[in-house]
Amino acid sequence: MEIQEIVSNQKKFFKTQQTKNTTFRKMNLEKLKDLIIKNENLLYEAIAKDFGKSKFDTFTTEISFVINDINYYLKNLTSLSRPKKVSTNLVNQIGKSRIHSEPLGNILVIGAWNYPYQLSLSPIIAALAAGNCCILKPSEIAENTMKIMSKIINENFPSEYLYVYEGGIDETTELLKLKFDKIFFTGSTKVGKIVYKAAAEHLTPVTLELGGKSPAIISKEANLEIAAKRIVWGKFLNAGQTCVAPDYILVEKSVQEPFLQLLEKYIGKFNYQADSENYTKIINQKNFERLIKLIDKDKIYLGGNSNEEKLYIEPTILTNINWDDEVMQEEIFGPILPVLSFTDFNLALNEVLEHEKPLAAYLFTNNSEEKEKFMNTLSFGGGCINDVIMHLGNENLPFGGVGSSGIGNYHGKFGFETFSHQKAILEKATWGEPNIKYPPYSDKKFSWIRRFL
Ligand code: NAD
Repeated sequence: MEIQEIVSNQKKFFKTQQTKNTTFRKMNLEKLKDLIIKNENLLYEAIAKDFGKSKFDTFTTEISFVINDINYYLKNLTSLSRPKKVSTNLVNQIGKSRIHSEPLGNILVIGAWNYPYQLSLSPIIAALAAGNCCILKPSEIAENTMKIMSKIINENFPSEYLYVYEGGIDETTELLKLKFDKIFFTGSTKVGKIVYKAAAEHLTPVTLELGGKSPAIISKEANLEIAAKRIVWGKFLNAGQTCVAPDYILVEKSVQEPFLQLLEKYIGKFNYQADSENYTKIINQKNFERLIKLIDKDKIYLGGNSNEEKLYIEPTILTNINWDDEVMQEEIFGPILPVLSFTDFNLALNEVLEHEKPLAAYLFTNNSEEKEKFMNTLSFGGGCINDVIMHLGNENLPFGGVGSSGIGNYHGKFGFETFSHQKAILEKATWGEPNIKYPPYSDKKFSWIRRFL
C-alpha cells in the first residue's frame, strides 16, 4: 500500500472515534509493551549491528525507558484524559468551565538514529496514550533498528492505527507534503528547519527536539571527583552521540589541572577500548570523518587515537581551546571533549549566553549563589546541577529545547499534552439571564457594565 493511502486510512480511522476510548488506548499500549518484551533480544541484536551498542546500555537508555513510559501512561492516562474543572468568572455566571484534552488526530513522528528506540517509541507511546493515530518514520541511518521496529509494529498493529514507514530523505520529503495534525521531529537543527517549513504549508503544529552545544561548567567549589566521574560517564555514553551529552567543559582555571587528571582517571577506569562492551562505535564513515577533522593534534590532552575500520574513536580531551577552534563551531556529537577555562564565574556564564540556547546545561558546584546565577542567567532546554543527562530520567520533568535547540517538549504528562488539544468549554445555565449585555444599550446599562467588568 502507498504511504498516501495509509495516511488517508489513518484519517478515516481516527474519525471512527475508536482511539478516544481509554480502554482501547490502554489495550494497545499493553500490546506494544508485550511486543517489546517478547522481542527484547531482537532489539538488542539490531542495535548492536548498527553501532555496537551493548545490551547493558540498550536496556538502561532505551528499553527500560520505553517500558517505563508505557507503564506511566497505563497508570495515568485515565486521569490525564479526564476533563479538568476550572473556576468560572463573575461575568460568565451562572456557568461551569472545563478543559477537555482531546487527541489531535493524525501524528507523524520522525526519529533520530542515536537512541533509535527511545526517540522513536517514546513519542509514539505518548501520542497513542493521548488517543491519536501515528506514522513513525525512524532514522534510516540506524538501518537494523529501523527494520526491527517496522517488523514488530507493522506485523502486529493495523496500519490505519499505527504504522512504521521505512525510508530516508526522499521518503521523508514525500511524507512532509502530506497533511498531519502534528509533526514530532527529533534530529538536527538544520533538518528541523526543513520540517518546520514543510509543516507551515499546512499550518501543522510541530514539536522539534533538536540539538546544540551543551556546556558543563565546573566551579572551583565543585566536588571535582564526582563531577569528573559523572561527566566522563555522560560524555562517553554512546561514544558521545547523545543530544544532551556535555559538549564542552568550562572549568575554573584554579582547578583545571586536578580536574583534568580526574577525567583521565575515570576514562581509564571505565575502560573504553575498541570492541569493549562499555563503548559504542561511531555510527558511520561520514560521521567518523567529520569527527576526526575536529581533533586538533596540537591540542590533545588525552586520547586522539582512532581505528577507521572499527569506526572507533578513543575518548579524546582537547585543552587550550578557544571559541575560534573548529571543534567549537558546531555540536560535536562524538567522543571529543574540549576544555575551556575561566577565572570569573560571571564571565563564564556570559560566554554561554553569547551563543545559541543549548538543549542542556550542567553546573557542578556546592555554592548556592552560583547555582542561583546559573539558573537565572542562562536559557537552555533543561539540565542538572551536579550531574549530567539524568534530568531526562525523571518523567515529572518536561524534556525539550528552547530557541535553536527546539520547540515544545514531552515525557510524562507533558508528552500527553504535546499530542492533545486543550478544548475550552463553558457550560451555561439556561436560567438567570441578566439583560445588561444585550441591546438596546443605554447610559444606565453602560454604567452597570463598567462596574461589572
Ligand atoms: P538528522 O536531522 O540528520 O535526521 C533526523 C531525521 O530526519 C531522520 O529520520 C532523517 O531521515 C530525516 N532527515 C534527514 N535529512 C532530511 C531532509 N533533508 N529532509 C527531510 N528529512 C530528513 O539527525 P540525526 O543525525 O539523526 O541526529 C543527530 C542530531 O539530532 C543531533 O543534532 C542531535 O543533537 C539531535 N538530537 C536531538 C535529540 C533531542 O531529543 N533533542 C535527540 C537525539 C538527537
